[in-house]
Amino acid sequence: MRISPCRLLPALSSFAVVLVTVGCAAQEKEPFTVVLLPDTQNYSDKCPETYMAQTEWIKAKAKEENIKFVIHLGDIVQHAENEDEWQRADRAQKVLDGIVPYSMAPGNHDVDKQFSTKGLKKVTKVTRGTSLYDKYFGPQRFKKYPWYGGHKGASNANNYCFFEGGGMKFMVLSLEFAPSDETLAWANDVVDKHRDRQVIVATHFHLRVGSRPKDVDPYGLKGNVGEAVWNKLIRKHENIFMIVCGHVSGVFHQTAVNDAGRRVHEILADYQRLPNGGDGWLQLVKFVPAEGKIKVIAYSPKLDKYDDVWLDMYEGKKLDGYKGEKTYTLEWDMGGRKLKKAG
Ligand SMILES: [Zn+2]
Repeated sequence: MRISPCRLLPALSSFAVVLVTVGCAAQEKEPFTVVLLPDTQNYSDKCPETYMAQTEWIKAKAKEENIKFVIHLGDIVQHAENEDEWQRADRAQKVLDGIVPYSMAPGNHDVDKQFSTKGLKKVTKVTRGTSLYDKYFGPQRFKKYPWYGGHKGASNANNYCFFEGGGMKFMVLSLEFAPSDETLAWANDVVDKHRDRQVIVATHFHLRVGSRPKDVDPYGLKGNVGEAVWNKLIRKHENIFMIVCGHVSGVFHQTAVNDAGRRVHEILADYQRLPNGGDGWLQLVKFVPAEGKIKVIAYSPKLDKYDDVWLDMYEGKKLDGYKGEKTYTLEWDMGGRKLKKAG
């Protein structure tokens, strides 16, 4: 039968609508990955090729793994006063520029130090100064990107960024080492203003292996850590569903319930005590919307190995903090009913 063009056109356009609808639905259910880049301090200090191997791998796999965002967990460098280390970190992170959005959070090794003596004892305190952190990873580096949301004051020590995945809108809120009360007030405000986004908070020190710490002045810096950040920020917001950290050698996760009755996943990853400064291990946080699951997998681009082999690899080494955890799966509420879908 011959179909006139006039008849064909509506038929085609409804076919196109179906295609578009199917396309959107498929995109909404598409799995995607967020990469956690734990303490790179040893790489910036002694083996920059490992840091480069990590970011080169992320760049190479960005499409295949559908990598939407990379979160650095702090302790970018070992010695904040050594500019060479910052330049190495800069070169490694630059690999991601224009490829995958990423955020940085300063760790205790990245901030300015204050040196003093008590009798014969040398005392080193960490401060809130971020001179070289901001020289290399300040707001000037990020403000050209549409995914960069903003920062507190003149520094990038506290910042927020956006990404979308699985048809949903996300925000990554990175906070300074042991955030001050003033910073937490700012963070509460930022989360309140972005209620349409599911939020991942990143701060360098949040968990020890097994629990949330209650330190009030780590390395002589008065601030909020672990339990205090949970009480003053995390639990109060329905849309914060994950907090990620490094700092403490080991791997650990726990799931808590916030005041709205929703799950919050707390994840620690820090491989710095493994051979060769960490052997390049990072974590792939794979979101699978169709299953309502998040799969967390450790992988080393340097070794090209997943964590199914790592306890055998490091047998005989003192690795207490690393023993309990391999690849695991988390239940994911996917924003629940109240959060809007990406428009
Ligand atoms: Zn640290």
